[in-house]
Formats: sequence, C-alpha cells, structure tokens
Amino acid sequence: MARINDHYRKLRAGYLFPEIGRRVAAFHAENPDARLIRLGIGDVTLPLAIAAVDALRRAADELGTAEGFRGYGPDRGAYDFLIDAIRAHDYDARGVTVARDEIFVSDGSKQDSGNIQEIFGAGCTIAVTDPVYPVYVDTNVMAGRTGPGDERGRYEQVLYLPATEKNGFVPGPPEGSVDLAYLCSPNNPTGAVASRENLADWVAWARERDAVLIFDAAYDAFIQDPTLPHSIYEIEGARECAIEMRSFSKRAGFTGLRCAYTVVPQALTGSDADGARVPLNGLWARRHATKFNGVPYPVQRAAEAVFTPEGRKQTGEQVAYYMTNAARLREGLGGAGFRVFGGENAPYVWVRTPGGTPSWEFFDRLLSDAHVVCTPGSGFGASGEGYVRLSAFNSRENIDAAVERIRETFRS
Ligand SMILES: *Cc1c(COP(=O)(O)O)cnc(C)c1O
Repeated sequence: MARINDHYRKLRAGYLFPEIGRRVAAFHAENPDARLIRLGIGDVTLPLAIAAVDALRRAADELGTAEGFRGYGPDRGAYDFLIDAIRAHDYDARGVTVARDEIFVSDGSKQDSGNIQEIFGAGCTIAVTDPVYPVYVDTNVMAGRTGPGDERGRYEQVLYLPATEKNGFVPGPPEGSVDLAYLCSPNNPTGAVASRENLADWVAWARERDAVLIFDAAYDAFIQDPTLPHSIYEIEGARECAIEMRSFSKRAGFTGLRCAYTVVPQALTGSDADGARVPLNGLWARRHATKFNGVPYPVQRAAEAVFTPEGRKQTGEQVAYYMTNAARLREGLGGAGFRVFGGENAPYVWVRTPGGTPSWEFFDRLLSDAHVVCTPGSGFGASGEGYVRLSAFNSRENIDAAVERIRETFRS
C-alpha cells in the first residue's frame, strides 16, 4: 500500500490565486466586454533584455558545433563565468566577499526557498513574518514541521511575526527561540524593506540563539535608497548565521527563463544529534548534486549577460520603468486618500482598504466597479487582512488607467 504523505492534507488547497481566478472568471462571464487591468500578479511584463536574448542565441549556436557542444555542467552544475560575475557584481561591488564554492546556481528561488528546509531536522521550529510568501510555510507543512492548520490557514507550530503599520511592516526577531527564520526583503507582499539596524538585530539574535536565517532577496534590484542593505552579508556576523537567495526572475525578467542562486557560507553550521557542528554548505552541496543537474548552459550565458554593461543598462531601465509605475500607484492612490505603503524600494504597493474593509470585499469592489484585479492581503496571512497588494509589473498605460479608475470608483 502506497501510503501518502499525510502532511500534504494539512495544506490549504491552493487558496489565494485559484480563488482570485475563480472570481475574475465569474466577473468575466457576466461582463464579457469589460477590459480588466490585472495588478494582482507578481510576474514581470517587459520583454527580455536584448543582451540576454543575444547571449541565449549565441549559446544555442555554440551548442550546435563540435567545439562548442556541452553536456552536463561542471561539478555543481554552474559555470565559473556565471559564478564569478555574481561574485563581482552582486557581492564585491558591495564590499562582501563570497567564495565560488559558496554559490549554488539553480532554476529558481521558489525552489531554493522551498527546498532549503530539507537539510534541517524534522524537529526544527520555524518563524515567518505575517503576511508571508506562502512557499516558506507550505514546504514546511509538507515536511511535517508545522502541526495542523486552523481555518484561517495558521499552523499550530509556526511562529508568526506580525508585519504591521506599527513596525513599518518589518518585524524584528522574536523574544523566544526558533531554529529557522525566513526573511524576505524587499518584501513580497508588503513592499517594505529591512533596514541595516533591523537586519543587525536579526543577525545578533540568530547568533545568540544558534538559529539560521533564510534571507530571500529576490527583489534587491528594486532598492532605490542607497543606505538600505541588498545582502544580509553586509551585516557583520551574518556569514555564521544566514543563507541568502537571489533570483534573476524579477531583476531581469527571467520568470520564464529560470535562473537564481543560493549562497551558503562555509562558516555556517548546524548541529548534529550529539551537538557537534556540521557545515551546512556540504549538506546543500550534497542535495544539489543528488537532486539537480544544473541550469541550461544558454540560460547561464543569459544570466551572465545581465552583468555586462549593456545588460546592466537594459535591466536597469526595466527596473526603473517598474519603479516609476510603483511611484504612480503610490502617488495616485495616496492623493486620493488611500493609505499606501511600500512601492519605494519594491515593485509592490501595499494599500490599506478604506475604513478597514475586509480584503476580499475590497477586492470584489475593485473588480466590479473599477475592473481592476488586486491581490487580497489576507491571502498572505492574518495580518494582511484590511490590505491589498498592487503590483507595478504592468504597462504604464495600464497603471495610469487603473489609478484613474480606482480614484473614480472611490470619489465620495
Ligand atoms: C518571485 C519571487 C521569488 C523568485 O522566484 P523564482 O523561482 O526565482 O522565479 C522568490 N521569492 C519571492 C518572495 C518572490 O516573490
């Protein structure tokens, strides 16, 4: 008898995005002529930078020649040309040294942030912010670390740290101890960014409690304020307590192409059953070697091209385009009396619903009256109730039209 993994049954059945899809489809069926503007999705919309496209083409041509053909990648699946470009541009440039064997290239930060829990014991306790990127929680549910969930989608054994207006949507470390803490900055969904002080508090806490921080920096390229940290390793001592993840998805439009990486410093250890220290790098290397065969060569060349002068210019312009969208959402809705957060160093704007209207009720109103699709904040966690997330990933025309329609709908 093939007994199933019962923990999967504790998952809330794909609640948020399917429910949005259902409501949008129902609206569409009744209003076939309405032109919807979708500000709900967290996917990029601009085409791939030409520098990356050219690199893809060249690499594909190379693979079709006797001299240029390549099969499986090197030992850990990643070529040094990409590893060294990452080290130079994402780390050396910020005064952080990361060694080649500390970088693991993969096909996505979703996978990495979901898979990383495998190298930790089944008994490890976890903390997440609330609202939260659901992957961190769901993968721990699947692994049996969370206990049962309640009807609001909260799991008994997970420590939720509320991200609220009071703490600027950036919670500090908890009073108690947990083994793993997931942080995401710039944040999806709130658009808030952790300050240097906040991250220093987290690092001090993790070192004192012997906890591991899992730092997801998928949106670091959207940081505009030069005083804000891009990498957790900009904080003294983080190499002993933090794993970091970055992705080419949002910074360079690779959501379809797929390339990301995870940094596991050599100095970072966990403990075995006898309390002996074990480097986590070796464990992740082993997992990577056993379960993954690397990112396609042309995709690694395309990722490398993101760091060339042309690639940086082109992807920089894309980020600037989205950030202008975010500013227009902020200003347009803020000027109409909405309380808006985020959107200054992140492509997401976190909007307080008027009068504390429940997130889904506000979602329905935006859909039916403004023909705009948002993401209900409550779908990311209990503390997201009374907020919605608007995405800046869209055309300028759609952003401006959406702002105008929302203003019109709520003109009182
Ligand atoms: C989009 C996103 C990622 C990136 O995922 P990929 O698998 O690299 O596309 C990672 N973390 C968060 C919080 C995200 O929103």
